Amino acid sequence: MKTQDNITLENALHFDNTYTRELPADPESTNKVRQVINSCYSRVWPVKAGAPKLVACSREMAGEAGLSSELCESEEFVQVFSGNKVLSGMDPYAACYGGHQFGTWAGQLGDGRVINLGEIVNKEGRRWVLQLKGAGPTPYSRMGDGFAVLRSSVREFLCSEAMYHLGIPTTRALSLLTTGDHVIRDMFYNGNPQPEPGAIVCRTAPSFTRFGNFEILAWRGELDLLRRFTDYTIRTDFPHLGEPSKEVYGAWFDEVCRTTAEMIVHWLRTGFVHGVMNTDNMSVLGLTIDYGPYGWIEDYDPGWTPNTTDAQGRRYRFGNQAEIARWNLIQLANAIHPIIEEVKPLENALQTYSDHLRDTWQGMMAAKLGLAGFNKESDNELITDMQDLLQHVETDMTIFFRRLAALDVQGNDASISSSAYLIEHFSDAFYVTEQLNDEYRVRLRKWIDQYRLRLNHDRIPDDLRREKMNSVNPKYIFRNYIAQLAIDKAEQGDPSMVSELLEVLRNPYDEQPGKDELAKRRPEWARHRAGCAMLS
Ligand code: AMP
Ligand code: MG
Repeated sequence: MKTQDNITLENALHFDNTYTRELPADPESTNKVRQVINSCYSRVWPVKAGAPKLVACSREMAGEAGLSSELCESEEFVQVFSGNKVLSGMDPYAACYGGHQFGTWAGQLGDGRVINLGEIVNKEGRRWVLQLKGAGPTPYSRMGDGFAVLRSSVREFLCSEAMYHLGIPTTRALSLLTTGDHVIRDMFYNGNPQPEPGAIVCRTAPSFTRFGNFEILAWRGELDLLRRFTDYTIRTDFPHLGEPSKEVYGAWFDEVCRTTAEMIVHWLRTGFVHGVMNTDNMSVLGLTIDYGPYGWIEDYDPGWTPNTTDAQGRRYRFGNQAEIARWNLIQLANAIHPIIEEVKPLENALQTYSDHLRDTWQGMMAAKLGLAGFNKESDNELITDMQDLLQHVETDMTIFFRRLAALDVQGNDASISSSAYLIEHFSDAFYVTEQLNDEYRVRLRKWIDQYRLRLNHDRIPDDLRREKMNSVNPKYIFRNYIAQLAIDKAEQGDPSMVSELLEVLRNPYDEQPGKDELAKRRPEWARHRAGCAMLS
């Protein structure tokens, strides 16, 4: 199929499939669920979609892949990214990996609803793996069917791109399509399965390698393959580290620790809660990966988790994510220990994780508050007091920081020292006005006084402070209830809100005239509504 200027997908995309070329394949070719030993992947083709239709395409990701908007709107694009047409340079496969789920070793997991199409190298020489999520079963599908529904696909597609524009390391999404087929899902796990529209997201990343890819090989005692896979990872994804050796393995793990710490700090900055930080959902590139029951904290609550299946233990709650990332890194350290044969470099790197996390977190909090830098003497207390304040009454974290930036602290207006003025100033951030009692009013005023005193040390002009704060404190996040509104419409055949959100979330730090509705705190009707509060 040709577009006007005769450029087809086949000649726009340059494939260079290192994963399937350099790593051993599962010798069995039937597509049935099994344990796959001594191999890194199984070749498998996508299932054909009945009546695929494009819902949305990310123009930034398309540009990165070298695809024009004409190509993205072509029939060929629909055929390829619904899995109906496999291009000649592709070599579709599902990867084998294992993982610790909720703290327990789960054995082999693998790409159960993902089929990798291949790796492209773009004009700038950057490598992108293209994969279809929801294109049918693989040998790793276990109890699942390998398909995905529209609601989870809208969430993954939009959140990937929202995270990217927020400056958070993440896997990306090129396209979202409906398949025209139905998928049966028991959404509430209450024995009432319903047909739902099927969908496919084309996800992209320089690599999708997870901690679990190493864990499965170590667990099986496939140490030669573990070494080979680690060497492959270093050569392909970490070429700056040099030729693999025991020292380089240590340097590699150190880098994984650092990038993981940075990713976590970004999550804490923006209120993102991953929800399923199992080791199979941890990228060695420090990318946010696998958007399932994730969510964004609205009122500041470190104990909040979006994941209903984690509601009891709350292992993956907002405030526990740094600790869990460390736990996951320890599992990766255990997995690669047999090829490093030394404990010290692993321990050092884990210490680096903690130190780097602390330093990065302090810098990030200082930036959120508009301080010139983190002051060890004063700022721990300032931040702890603020966190207490935010929890004292239900306060929207995102709105709070934007309103804090808006405050004129250097003007001559004496009303800034009055509780009434401050309550009014922050009113958009409060969920329950009845909670704003006298005790709270006094606390708010005292904390603002403390904050102003601290700002006096830096002497940054208000407008400059505001500009800097607004560049790290987003106005627009992909709020859970807003995602649900877009899903409701898309399920009724109207994808306009998906496109609107894709557009608004491209500039999360900017004021956007006419879009204030999408920056508002969660309305009361959404407090307990399925999809808006918790997911599984
Ligand atoms: P997740 O919690 O989404 O990261 O998934 C954990 C494991 O379950 C991975 O191995 C997935 O591939 C697999 N899985 C999840 N959903 C499905 C599905 N619908 N069909 C097949 N496998 C699935
Ligand atoms: Mg996963």
